[in-house]
Amino acid sequence: MPEKMWDSSSESMPSSQLKELQLKRLKELVHRVYTKNKYYKKKFDEAKLKPNTMRTLKDIEKIPFLTKQDLRAYYPFGLVCTELDEIIEVHASSGTTGKPVVGPYTRNDVELWAEVMARSLWANGLRSNDVMQNAYGYGLFTGAHGFEKGAQKIGAMVITISSGNTERQIDVMRDFGATALACTPSYSLHIAEVAEEKGLAPSEDFLLRLGVFGAEAWSEEMRKNVEKRWGIVAHEHYGLTELIGPGVVSECENKKLHINADHFYPEVIDPKTGETLESGEEGELVFTTLTKEAFPAIRFRTKDLASISDEACECGRTLPIQSRIKGRSDDMMKVKGVIVFPSQIEAALMQVAGVSDNYQIVKTRQGDSYSLSVEVEPSEARFREGHLDDFERRAEGEIYRILNLHVPVHIIPPKTIPRSTGKAKRVIER
Ligand SMILES: [Zn+2]
Repeated sequence: MPEKMWDSSSESMPSSQLKELQLKRLKELVHRVYTKNKYYKKKFDEAKLKPNTMRTLKDIEKIPFLTKQDLRAYYPFGLVCTELDEIIEVHASSGTTGKPVVGPYTRNDVELWAEVMARSLWANGLRSNDVMQNAYGYGLFTGAHGFEKGAQKIGAMVITISSGNTERQIDVMRDFGATALACTPSYSLHIAEVAEEKGLAPSEDFLLRLGVFGAEAWSEEMRKNVEKRWGIVAHEHYGLTELIGPGVVSECENKKLHINADHFYPEVIDPKTGETLESGEEGELVFTTLTKEAFPAIRFRTKDLASISDEACECGRTLPIQSRIKGRSDDMMKVKGVIVFPSQIEAALMQVAGVSDNYQIVKTRQGDSYSLSVEVEPSEARFREGHLDDFERRAEGEIYRILNLHVPVHIIPPKTIPRSTGKAKRVIER
């Protein structure tokens, strides 16, 4: 099946060969950062590590972690490991909680990005005859640019519409015959909502067949809603500005998340102790960029919780499989001694007939702990039906079934919660 993989020699190499390649690249990387960057040299010297101590992949555990605080301390270009003159493109995170994280790329880094994104989109099913509406926001954010590079490398047509102006998204989607949509899952639902208001049926009046979504945590239940509403297959992408942007992890046709581990070496650690966990155990994801030049990250702590397994996938890829992200450790809430992730509440709400895709979790701080409540918009039809008390009780019951915790649910009128054209704000603090 030559068609199935973008680069079958990399995606289906025997695992022993993959490990050999990772070790070779790790050795080169460690040597490079040690000789080219003051921060890394200092860090290695303090840990009494010499670059030549990397004899096995396990030796990576001797290297101290790289954290977001480190990146901020060296803002904007302190961690660059090439000459500034070699950088041809720069991106940055939104920086909502402090200084943004800067992602500089050499020409080879840009080529690598296009390659891993082409590989990922190809695995999702994107082909050269597809028309991809790129509704991620263009700008410093990596999303739109990564998807554009990968889709163009495949030879697909990219509609560079950016996010927002939803009415226009709908016109363009119909007129240009878009077959694939790239944006956050919540924005795809907002586009569907506006299309319906215009009297269109999203699953019938468009040529869309594929959704390539990311930049947002969403539950499997939400995925089913998106697929049904649009009549498409929806795939998940995972990446970070600190690593390259999107292109680190993406799904095959079996909806298994494969890590591009020949370029991004993954580990899972206990977020409390920093100890490396076994395959299959859930913890914090840590990544090392094995081949990036301008801004390599060694053992970057993502704060995202997931597990990794080496199980074989029917698609034939041997790249390790990552579970869906359970949540960021920052999003974890402790309520009456119970650990709660927003994704668990979303999964519970999606079980209730008549719930729309719009909800908000309201956190109220009480000392060291929080009290939680949930505001939910029902569908228009369910709202008109009335008996909203019953509806609230049902939603509370589903949450209780999953969390064993009573969380009050309040029904609010449809279209109360502000819609987002990027990442939806699911948790608010009052
Ligand atoms: Zn697979």
